[in-house]
Amino acid sequence: MSCANKSRREFLGTTAVATASLAVAPGVMLIDMAHGRAPEEAASSSVRWGMLVDTNKCDSGCTDCVTACNTENGLSGDTSETGSQWIRKVELKDMRTGKATSLPMMCQHCAEPPCVDVCPTGASFKRADGIVLVDKHICIGCRYCVMACPYKARSFIHEALADQNPDVPRGKGVVESCTMCVHRVDKGQTTACAEACTKAGHDAILFGDLNDANSEISKRVSTFATKQVRADLGLNTGVRYQGI
Ligand code: SF4
Ligand code: SF4
Repeated sequence: MSCANKSRREFLGTTAVATASLAVAPGVMLIDMAHGRAPEEAASSSVRWGMLVDTNKCDSGCTDCVTACNTENGLSGDTSETGSQWIRKVELKDMRTGKATSLPMMCQHCAEPPCVDVCPTGASFKRADGIVLVDKHICIGCRYCVMACPYKARSFIHEALADQNPDVPRGKGVVESCTMCVHRVDKGQTTACAEACTKAGHDAILFGDLNDANSEISKRVSTFATKQVRADLGLNTGVRYQGI
C-alpha cells in the first residue's frame, strides 16, 4: 500500500469512528428519534429509507436542496464534467402541453442497484435499510458503477481534497454519490436536502420509511399517484416522484 493510500485509509478510518460517536446536536430538527441507531447497531431491513419529491411544490428557480447537499457533504459545487454533483436540478417540458416541471435528481437508492451488481470489489453496496453507499476503503476507482447507473448519479473524485466535513470523509481516486445523508439518518435526523426544502417553504422533499405504513411518506405513496423515474428498468427506486 502506498503512503498516500495508507494515510487516506487511516484518515477515513479515524473519521468513521469520530462520526459514530457524535451526539445529536441540540436544536436539530428530528424526524423520529426511535429510528436513530446506536453506533454498534446494524441497519435493519425492517426499515426502507426513501424520499418522495412532490414536483408540484418544487420551485424551478430554487436550488436550496443542491446548496444544502454541497454544504452538508463538503462538495465544492463544481458543476463541470469532472465536478462532484450528488444532487442536481432538472427542468422538464412536456412537448404536448408545454407544462414545465422542475425536480431534483440524486441517487435513487435502487433496491436492485446496477452499480452494486457491476462493482468488482464489493465497494458499492446496499445497506439492509435500502441506502446505497460506496465503501471508500475498498473502491479502486474503476468507475464501472458510474457507467452502470442509469441516473448518472455517481461522480469520481479527480483532485485531492482539503477541508472535508469530518462526518463525510471523501478522497481522491474513488467514486461517490448521494448517501441519503446516512450520517444524519443514523442519528434520527432527516436529510439535508429535505430540511432545506422545508426551510425554503416549499416542502417538496419528504424523507421517511417506505416500510412503515403509518409514515407520512408511505401514506402519500399509497394515496397519490407517484412514479419511479425509469420504472421500466425494474430497479425499485427508493426515491419517488409526484406530479410527473
Ligand atoms: S441510482 Fe445509480 S448509484 Fe444510485 S443505487 Fe441506483 S444505480 Fe446505484
Ligand atoms: S439526501 Fe443528503 S446526500 Fe442525498 S441529495 Fe439529499 S442532501 Fe445530498
